[in-house]
Amino acid sequence: MEIGESHLGNHLVLRPVGRLDNGTSADFQAYLVKALNAAGRDIIVDFSGINYVSSAGLRALMAASRLKPAGRRIAVAAAGQVVQEILTISRFHEVIPLFATVDAANEAWTDKTKPVATRSATPPHPPTVPVHFWGTRGSLAAPLNHNNTRGKIREALMAARDRQLRTPEAIDAFIERDLAFSVRGTFGGNTACVEIGTGGNEYMICDLGTGVREFGAKMMMQHGPARPQTYNVFLSHVHWDHIMGFPFFTPAYIPGNKIRIYSAHRSAREALLRQQSAPCFPVLFESLGATIEFIELETGQNYEIAGFTVSCIRQFHEGESYGYRFTKNGKVIVYSTDCEHKASVLDNSYPFVSFFRHADLLIFDAMYSLADAVSVKEDWGHSSNIIAVELAQLARVKKLAMFHHEPAYDDARIERVLGETIRYEEISREDHKVEVISAYDGLDLSV
Ligand SMILES: [Zn+2]
Ligand SMILES: [Zn+2]
Repeated sequence: MEIGESHLGNHLVLRPVGRLDNGTSADFQAYLVKALNAAGRDIIVDFSGINYVSSAGLRALMAASRLKPAGRRIAVAAAGQVVQEILTISRFHEVIPLFATVDAANEAWTDKTKPVATRSATPPHPPTVPVHFWGTRGSLAAPLNHNNTRGKIREALMAARDRQLRTPEAIDAFIERDLAFSVRGTFGGNTACVEIGTGGNEYMICDLGTGVREFGAKMMMQHGPARPQTYNVFLSHVHWDHIMGFPFFTPAYIPGNKIRIYSAHRSAREALLRQQSAPCFPVLFESLGATIEFIELETGQNYEIAGFTVSCIRQFHEGESYGYRFTKNGKVIVYSTDCEHKASVLDNSYPFVSFFRHADLLIFDAMYSLADAVSVKEDWGHSSNIIAVELAQLARVKKLAMFHHEPAYDDARIERVLGETIRYEEISREDHKVEVISAYDGLDLSV
């Protein structure tokens, strides 16, 4: 990759040109680390010539920042709108100072009476909606076992064999840069539960799979039993994997808490009561301390809830399931899990294309391969990664999060499917790019 060098004041300015992606990131990182060590001065990376940064590019930037000698500073300046957005979504602006221009960076660093500009230097963005995934597995919780853990340790040690990893920072950089996500992390094993931040004092979650236990634990840590909260729950349907966490949602036991369970599914109340009845569970639903309300929604209506406009759609799934579309400040998040889309009906007249239209984030049940979905697992109620991409492209979705992972898949397999799906998106793309990710337990997004 071409990297220009110049000086401004006492600072070295590097100006890479082109795309910072899988192909160029390693060069960029090596160049940056070398410059940080050799220059003896702070570095401003002028991003005005960069038109795209992939996660590999971001990792390279982060690794260089971590590997820099003590006392050396690095900042990014003059990023274009798209790159700026990528840096913000990935929260890099919280770690590496961003400046609107190279001059602004130079000025901030030269004037010793001024504190180094960080977040305040970031050009203003429309408010974002935080999304946190508490559970992403489909059908059944699927925790890692000791063999899986041992396998990851083994792979990490193999990859580190000939490396000189003498400091914690070098180890962190190695983990981040050189280990695949399936080795350094895990997609997780909790079943469906996704939190959408309201920015207000109410909470909002989709589904009550086993992930809701950890959400409840965080709420108890944050608020304790003495400060009652309001929780808005949107239930896709009442299959076990979407409700089984509720008996372990501690806030449900605390008097004063309010829980509103919204669903278009007519059996929501019955299923939750039955789940907590003898002999299946020792605490009856009726004896829970919180005030719990069930609110029936109708498809095709708009509702104003916790600052969002919410609508729902009936999906193709045994026993009925519903997808939800949440809109706020022009941002659209769609939660659509447990739905079987049949390939032959995909065009603009398909109702899901309008339901997904221009979503900033589409959370989508991509449990199976297309081959499985149209053969042995036909009519099992779930969709494939291929259909996910095609629908997202038709609906001009910005980011597609594959969700409801098959419990039989290990991390390496989910990662492979993600790679293949990204590739499929490239191959099938006409004029609209969909960013494809695979959701994992603990993933934070800023929409
Ligand atoms: Zn499910
Ligand atoms: Zn289901």
